[in-house]
Amino acid sequence: MTNKLSDRINNLPVSATLAMAAKARELKENGIDIIGLSLGEPDFNTPDFIKKAAIQAIDDNYNSYTPVDGYVDLKKSICNKFKRDNGLDYKPNQIVVSTGAKQSIANAVQVLINPGDDVLLVAPYWVSYSAIVTLAEGNSIEIRSDILSDFKITPKQLEDSITEKTKLVIINSPNNPSGSVYSEKEYLALAEVLEKYPKIFILSDEIYEHINYGIPHFSFAKIPSMFERTITVNGLAKAFAMTGWRIGYIGAPKWIAKACTKMQGQITSGANCIAQRATIAALEAPVSKIKYMVDEFKERRKLIIELLKEINGVKLNQPQGAFYVFPDISSFFGKTLKGKKINNASEFAIYLLEEAHVATVTGDAFGSPNNIRISYAASKQEIKKAITRISKALTH
Ligand code: GLU
Repeated sequence: MTNKLSDRINNLPVSATLAMAAKARELKENGIDIIGLSLGEPDFNTPDFIKKAAIQAIDDNYNSYTPVDGYVDLKKSICNKFKRDNGLDYKPNQIVVSTGAKQSIANAVQVLINPGDDVLLVAPYWVSYSAIVTLAEGNSIEIRSDILSDFKITPKQLEDSITEKTKLVIINSPNNPSGSVYSEKEYLALAEVLEKYPKIFILSDEIYEHINYGIPHFSFAKIPSMFERTITVNGLAKAFAMTGWRIGYIGAPKWIAKACTKMQGQITSGANCIAQRATIAALEAPVSKIKYMVDEFKERRKLIIELLKEINGVKLNQPQGAFYVFPDISSFFGKTLKGKKINNASEFAIYLLEEAHVATVTGDAFGSPNNIRISYAASKQEIKKAITRISKALTH
């Protein structure tokens, strides 16, 4: 039958992270012992104090439609969080609560980007940024970084990428997929460039804020000259092990927040009532309550780096945050392993899935064709087993 779908959906790539996770799930259901290191999803349970708040919300009959931009008391908690953790002074009318940080990003891009506008993405970047920009009919312009620069860009690279058409820059620290963290000094240097181009907006995705192993987290909007031009995105999924609860939020200039609310009001309405009540408990708790998860991720980072370093041909740096490693595996391109020729990162990831039964994600999806992403949001035992299998599959 002729394809009757719109060009918009026909041209939209499938999310590579979700596709790999689905493939791994399917193989598992068919009895194959797959180790899933593709999805960025903490393997912890949501902390009990948050679960209790959700149960209380159900008992208190929170069941009605919620305000499109979020409950007022939740927005106040978000303002307090921004002040406490980031030194940012947002008012409740600058906050919009969404069904996950992904929706917050999509809202912001939809309300700012006209067809033909350029959006600068720092490669490697999270898979959905480019698809979200495409949906808004904008152009994704990549600024490339690699393992030698710790996957960070210089002020000069930023400046060289700016044109008359540039409307938005998306930055992300700690970064998915590289784990890089920008210091305050590095962000100040990028801001110095942006100060010369007052028409450019900045979307700062800070969803991995708390999964940080050293360099203090710095919010881009903290730079006074950037505050009125920055949309700060955050959410609950990663730090609070709440991926399925689907709560994200932004702090933004009032007029952008209002536009995002209008957009959301036509598409999903307000986020889930129970999850919003639970979010208040999560954000009002001291950050120390979730430290045990970060400490565990830190140990896993050490473990996975030690194990991967033993494999010839795998080039690694030391990520400073998030729970991914992003090795350069280009030395395998052109080689034949166990009778299979590897031409690129996608074929490499498929090879690992088929031969080692370990699910990872190709770097192509993140704008870095020499790499693959491996999530270490899995138990130490699984990490050990996975890397042992990968090592075996890559040894001639
Ligand atoms: N952000 C996570 C990841 O990159 C979750 C999957 C997704 O939404 O892409 O794996």
